[in-house]
Amino acid sequence: MKTIGLIGGMSWESSLEYYRIINETVKQKLGGFHSAKCLMYSVDFAEIEELQRQDRWDDAAQMMIDAAQRLERGGAEFVVICTNTMHKSVDAMQPAIHIPLLHIADATAEKIETAGLRKVGLLGTRFTMEHDFYKGRLVDRFGLAVVIPNRDEREMIHRVIYDELCLGIIKPESRDAYIRAMDNLIQQGAEGIILGCTEIESLVRAEDSRVPLFPTAKIHAIAAVEYALA
Ligand code: GLU
Repeated sequence: MKTIGLIGGMSWESSLEYYRIINETVKQKLGGFHSAKCLMYSVDFAEIEELQRQDRWDDAAQMMIDAAQRLERGGAEFVVICTNTMHKSVDAMQPAIHIPLLHIADATAEKIETAGLRKVGLLGTRFTMEHDFYKGRLVDRFGLAVVIPNRDEREMIHRVIYDELCLGIIKPESRDAYIRAMDNLIQQGAEGIILGCTEIESLVRAEDSRVPLFPTAKIHAIAAVEYALA
């Protein structure tokens, strides 16, 4: 079993889920007392969030590089960034370490391909929905068509992530607003929806949607175990 290096704390609400799902999956696959060999370096999210808000992506990337190097020095054999948004730093991070990085969008796109879908909706932070690092990868590497919510919906989705979900607050009215935004994506032809922020799966469940959902934290955590055991 390879040792997994997790960069967590973005937010710790979803890092908890990664740790739980990774260990449950190892237990399911190997049985008995088996559990995951892993290290987690958990950042102070206040520092990252401030850099994101100020568009200081180079400084945020430096923090991600520092975290990945700490994990490598600690014996991790590959790196998992436990959030979608900070995958924006992947191109800067990979050359700075000697171990592979398991990309959350790749793990998710592989699931979408397996499900036989071509057009998906994407929910996430403003950065994930609007910048190219995530959508571009889905389109260029996997040939998927990606639709995103309209401007007002994107603002609402982003606000709920930072003001509620990253603070552990779950509000039924926010779930309803997300469901309405998902319905609009389905009307534009989305055959599935990527929950492209690792906290959204604590708000929205499969039963809230008419099309398949792709919960990125769960998909990424399971992919990490599959890679660790391969
Ligand atoms: N965890 C969220 C994501 O998957 C948002 C928090 C962050 O900015 O990292 O994008």
